[in-house]
Amino acid sequence: MVANDARADFFTPDKSGILAAVQRREAELIDRLRTLVEIESPSSAKSAVDQAQTVFAGWAEAAGGTLLRHRHRHFGDSLEVRFGKPARGEKPTLLLGHLDTVWPVGTLAKMPFKVTRDRIAGPGVLDMKAGVLMALTAIETLQEMQLLHRPVTLLLHGDEEVGSPASRKLTETIAQRCGAVYVLEPAQGAAGAYKTARKAVGMYRLSVQGVAAHSGVDFEKGHSAVVELARQIEALHALTDLTKGITVSPGVIGGGTQSNVIAAEAWVETDVRIARTRNLARMDRALRSLRPFDPACKLTMTGGMNRPPMERSKGTVQLFRRAQRFAADLGIAIEEAATGGASDGNFTAALGVPTLDGMGAVGAGAHAVHEHLERRHLVPRTALLAAMLL
Ligand SMILES: [Zn+2]
Repeated sequence: MVANDARADFFTPDKSGILAAVQRREAELIDRLRTLVEIESPSSAKSAVDQAQTVFAGWAEAAGGTLLRHRHRHFGDSLEVRFGKPARGEKPTLLLGHLDTVWPVGTLAKMPFKVTRDRIAGPGVLDMKAGVLMALTAIETLQEMQLLHRPVTLLLHGDEEVGSPASRKLTETIAQRCGAVYVLEPAQGAAGAYKTARKAVGMYRLSVQGVAAHSGVDFEKGHSAVVELARQIEALHALTDLTKGITVSPGVIGGGTQSNVIAAEAWVETDVRIARTRNLARMDRALRSLRPFDPACKLTMTGGMNRPPMERSKGTVQLFRRAQRFAADLGIAIEEAATGGASDGNFTAALGVPTLDGMGAVGAGAHAVHEHLERRHLVPRTALLAAMLL
């Protein structure tokens, strides 16, 4: 890795040339961003996500990419695009992204695509339609400058926002053949830090079965699932350990039928985040071994961990240091950050493939009505992405 870095630096051309070439493509990037954003593509709408994939595939093919469409039945297809000649023994770099968003069809009516001097707003601009276009622009720029000598695989999914149920296997299979993974998720915070660590994410559902009774006539015969649930929520919350980077957050509850009925059923859905792999099994056991406070009530825990943590590995830190050096060449500063949010980078990092995340746009409001990106970062970050593919 170190030797490779030295070689890459030695042959690295003037980064300002890349910056200028990306600058010339900015208008096209924003134009394409409008096209993609105006195809509303929530994870739940397969045909819409497929349409966004098709449009993107057209651009990627025109840029000389070899397309491979992986069909999914219930979610949008995954699109794999290969660029560059695979040299002997040289592993490709994987650019990983998604074209699904959290925004339902119809959102554009009240949250239209909008470009101002400083910002670009609209559903999915930041998370992450700009990111995938930055990747394509970076590749096109290197091709134009005849600098794309390494094989690059671009992989876009349509189910990331719902936990990647259909695409996970594909991500893992392809990542295993790759030397590094760059995730096109938005950068962290206003400074736009790259993400070198992410927590594992799990979703657990605790169902409580009590004993129903008339609250006036047979109060003593009842065993309230709602009261039991209230106690269990405290027990769940108490599993949080911030010093270890563990959070257990009961987020949605339900139960009971009427106020004059002692509740027979109640439930809570709990979000669990864990920073370290070594705490996964222990936490899973703790969550599954909750005991009822009222022995007449029954507990059932379902769900589990969805994404493993992306730990700050040596390989990831090396990628980050390289990005920092290239950023300095481009006249920008890059910080690193850890986050509780998860991405498909969690899967690739867990396989031991060096993964650098947050290489997409810089902005704020992902998944929120003020979602936007800051224009001043668009060109330099794209140039940095290109430099990282040299
Ligand atoms: Zn995303």
